[in-house]
Amino acid sequence: MAKADLYSVIAQKEAELIALSDFIHAHPEEGNEEFMAHAKVVEWLKNNGFDVEAEVVGLKTAFKATRNVLGGGLKIGLLCEYDALKGLGHACAHNLQSPAILGAALALAECLEVPATILVYGTPAEETTSGKLVMTREGLFDELDLVFMMHGSDSTTVDEKSLALNLIDFIYEGKAAHAAIAPEKGISALDAVLMLFNGMEYLREHVRSDVRFHGVITDGGKAANIVPARAAAQFYVRANDRPHLNEVLKRVMNVAEAAALATGAKLTVQEVKAYDNKLNVPTLNKLLLDNAAACGATDITPPRKQTGSTDFSSVTYRVPGACLRVGIVKQGVASHTEAFREAAGDERGRNAIRLAAKAIAGCAWDIANDPALLLAVKAEFAEAKKAFE
Ligand SMILES: [Zn+2]
Repeated sequence: MAKADLYSVIAQKEAELIALSDFIHAHPEEGNEEFMAHAKVVEWLKNNGFDVEAEVVGLKTAFKATRNVLGGGLKIGLLCEYDALKGLGHACAHNLQSPAILGAALALAECLEVPATILVYGTPAEETTSGKLVMTREGLFDELDLVFMMHGSDSTTVDEKSLALNLIDFIYEGKAAHAAIAPEKGISALDAVLMLFNGMEYLREHVRSDVRFHGVITDGGKAANIVPARAAAQFYVRANDRPHLNEVLKRVMNVAEAAALATGAKLTVQEVKAYDNKLNVPTLNKLLLDNAAACGATDITPPRKQTGSTDFSSVTYRVPGACLRVGIVKQGVASHTEAFREAAGDERGRNAIRLAAKAIAGCAWDIANDPALLLAVKAEFAEAKKAFE
């Protein structure tokens, strides 16, 4: 079999894959409730020779599907999301992901002539509770040699980095009192929140320039004539790498505790979620974009250096991986908009499925057939990991 055979398999399945995308787009389901999408994707994988675990790590809309080639070998992981946004439908274009990934997975399973294991994972609730975090914590991806996903975008590109992130709720409990008649009997939880914000601003001067933090007051008390008994704030704290972010977080906790000590309010800290940073594997990024170009992508832009944070990075912190971002809208049009949702449901989205399926399959094919390439990918990954130790 030749590399071009991958594309033939994808072309043969194109109508089914596009119907799947159209169905998911027309039936948007929010995170952890993607039952229809999950059922359709699982059914397709079963019909196409994959062994499927239809529920993993206690997540009802997660799955793991496996197909061995020549008894199994190089473990290629392919991830897909299928959750929609509350009130906005598929404005993040997650309907494109499973069709593209299924096409790539089947092409590799049918065409590879070296021992390999193709593993497809359904990763629910990217927009809300981040299913990938649970799956990562449970070690589901640790066995993989490589991992890929795709996402709609405003140009065709890949990410060089992403920021490690902790999303934290700080809740202060004080004591209510009449603010005019008996203020001495009260403990203002709002004072503690304001001191937290002030302390964070002082901290900002003394952290590395890649560190970002930004917060809002989620509860500022109920009435101006009552000393607030409860107040709360939520902060995103980010940095280039997980070890450094952990150091910054210790100082953030000191700031939060100082505010509690100063005011007498009781502090509760709740971690909402934490992502690790992406480890950059330039060879993998280049190979993916070269394959995208070979498959006809005309809107390729250089790998992104300025990025936010994603839960996929917690996977690529453990396994060499890359996400192919495929242009479905003009540059500058953001996701989570009506325009993005529209593109995800028309011919632009369908083109993205064809392109991503072929480019991802082609990239994995190149590595599976070239041990030196695989060694280079693994060496770059190890080096990137070591740089943060
Ligand atoms: Zn998204």
